[in-house]
Amino acid sequence: MTADNVVAIVGGGPAGLSAALTLARANVQSVVFDAPAPARNAASTAIGNLPGHDGIAPSALRQTIRSELTGYGLTQFQTADVSSVAGALHECFTLTPSTGDPITVSRIILACGRIDLYPNVDGFAEYWGKSIHNCPYCGGYDDRNKPWGVVVNRPEMTSVIEIYRMWSDDLIVFMDPDIEMDAARKADLARKGIGVETTPIRRIVGNGERMHGVELADGRTVPRAAFIWWPKMTVPPIVADLDLALNDQGEVVVDDAYRSSRTGIYATGDLIYSNHQSTASAIHLGGACAASVVFDIAMAQ
Ligand SMILES: Cc1cc2nc3c(=O)[nH]c(=O)nc-3n(C[C@H](O)[C@H](O)[C@H](O)COP(=O)(O)OP(=O)(O)OC[C@H]3O[C@@H](n4cnc5c(N)ncnc54)[C@H](O)[C@@H]3O)c2cc1C
Repeated sequence: MTADNVVAIVGGGPAGLSAALTLARANVQSVVFDAPAPARNAASTAIGNLPGHDGIAPSALRQTIRSELTGYGLTQFQTADVSSVAGALHECFTLTPSTGDPITVSRIILACGRIDLYPNVDGFAEYWGKSIHNCPYCGGYDDRNKPWGVVVNRPEMTSVIEIYRMWSDDLIVFMDPDIEMDAARKADLARKGIGVETTPIRRIVGNGERMHGVELADGRTVPRAAFIWWPKMTVPPIVADLDLALNDQGEVVVDDAYRSSRTGIYATGDLIYSNHQSTASAIHLGGACAASVVFDIAMAQ
């Protein structure tokens, strides 16, 4: 494979694989690098709210798209972390993977997602993706009508708590110590039957499969069967190493053709937005980004 018009895709999740499919259907070769570590959503057994594949396992979705790609013969897959990138557009980029030889390509699509920064709470990782959901549209339906907790760890969440009543009318809000809610809003929620707890959470309690409640810093246990808890996020190290422009939300800044601040490097998927991240959006963004890459390749010839 020569570098001419070969595109490297860093990240083999829904955005990266969708980008590879769009490239293949434009006769463009690509190499998809995907890290060997479990994907960010691997703790979840089913993808909810994905039309056509509602409830499919995250790994099965990836495998299905990879099988589709194989038929085109234009996509190589490498299970490796891309640990460094050197070069520039017109000179070509060289990517060095954690295993295997460096590879030279003409353009790069970053589709390497985000990293969740788990809170320092015992049991969080154990119940993450099972009883603890980062978004109600993903696993919320499957835990509907149970006692819910909602962790309010972003100022903008204080004004939208009523939305969670669509899934459960037994709601308690757990305030992150850094977030304030005024007395009037607390009274408003109390009138609506929504509890507000300000004591920090120390531990999640459950049977290893499902959570039963949370233990608070003062020793009380509050029974809860499910949580909405959206951790803070960061970008993978390769994005930080490339020194790309990020906005205040930590999203890679792109123009309307998915071009990052470094010419020849594009970004897509969860990397470029934070609110309501979803598999369907990642698939859309991956394909749209790849179409922009195809356009830029064609216009440069
Ligand atoms: C617990 C959980 C449950 C979710 N449930 C749902 C759901 O039910 N429904 C839904 O629609 N959405 C759900 N989501 C959101 C959905 O998973 C994401 O929006 C979607 O996966 C984003 O796709 P992506 O391709 O942008 O990133 P990702 O899926 O995160 O894929 C990025 C890939 O890049 C790889 N990578 C990172 N750095 C490198 C590197 N340097 N070199 C090579 N590879 C690298 C990662 O290992 C990863 O495989 C969930 C998310 C989480 C965290």
